[in-house]
Amino acid sequence: MVADCFARERFESAYRARIARIATLCREQGRSAVIATVGAEMPWLIGYQAMPLERITAAVITDDGEARLVIPQLEEARFRPLEGVQVLGWRDGEDPYRLIASMLPQKGSVLVTEGTRAGWLFKLFASAPSVNFSSAEALLARARAAKDEIELRLLALAAGAADRVAERLLNGEIPVIGRTERQVSAAISAALLEEGHAKVNFAIVASGPNSASPHHEAADRIIAAGDILVTDFGGTYSVGGEPGYCSDITRTFSVGGSAPKEFTELYLVLQAAQEAAASGIRAGMRGMEADALAREPIAASGFGDRFIHRLGHGIGLEEHEEPYLAPGERGELADGMAFSIEPGIYVTGRYGARIEDIAVLAGGSAERLNHAQRDLATLSR
Ligand code: ZN
Ligand code: ZN
Repeated sequence: MVADCFARERFESAYRARIARIATLCREQGRSAVIATVGAEMPWLIGYQAMPLERITAAVITDDGEARLVIPQLEEARFRPLEGVQVLGWRDGEDPYRLIASMLPQKGSVLVTEGTRAGWLFKLFASAPSVNFSSAEALLARARAAKDEIELRLLALAAGAADRVAERLLNGEIPVIGRTERQVSAAISAALLEEGHAKVNFAIVASGPNSASPHHEAADRIIAAGDILVTDFGGTYSVGGEPGYCSDITRTFSVGGSAPKEFTELYLVLQAAQEAAASGIRAGMRGMEADALAREPIAASGFGDRFIHRLGHGIGLEEHEEPYLAPGERGELADGMAFSIEPGIYVTGRYGARIEDIAVLAGGSAERLNHAQRDLATLSR
């Protein structure tokens, strides 16, 4: 039952569990409080996205489990009441920094989210000169990386919607031949919304030699038969006005006929590497070990220096977040973590290819949330 599992009470109990978890982590790590301002941390904690304007909004979680929201009074109505969160509105002319400082213990150790504007931080330093402030990133990013049930359901819905857009490309519902990259990008964006996303985050369309540029910006190049086409797109999917979760998928196609033999060989290497990672990733592996599962077979086939980015990134409220699957990444993967598996091979000036799925670690191994066809397909329209 879709309606039941996304009832407001389910979100509320998830938020309260996260607040309690952060308070526990504070106590374990000898921290007095966590302050979250603009960014993904506040919506994760209390279901509220602060307006990224000049007036500060701050969620203050103290180690005793108390949660307070300091918010401009004119924005107070945007916050949906959450049991256990005390709302403290401040008016223009009042000093929100002194209010926040009054919640912090003298000489306490307080963590602040990294998206906090530097100007706010300077005022906070001045208002609480004996408090030792540092970054909340290590504590919060790891806590957010392992998703709870409601987050996993939303990620699965987002992935399903992205899959349906990939299928529209496959079945010719979104034609590509004779259209510019920008037109196809706009059509993909429209389809992301039609399939249920609340917002489009990006729609990369890279054709011909542009496909060798992983973050190519769709432009005026007209897509023609004989091209290789890389499409990489995602949006934010939300339910009931709660913070939304992201999708991110990449599919590579040949346009108007079969691809050159060398490309087909390259693609098979890439697809086997993506499979090796998807079937081989286990809970307890380090990010760098997961990355190596795809990197080693690509290197063994002679394309090592053409796989020029990491294997994957975590995904949730943000498109890119912890955990990272990359060389040198020592963080361990754990059940509940969601991340992309997206190896790519790029031959500058000619073509490139990438295959990307979102996967979740469950029962120790990776389950892909995206299922759209990964075999190299030909788009005939
Ligand atoms: Zn992507
Ligand atoms: Zn990605």
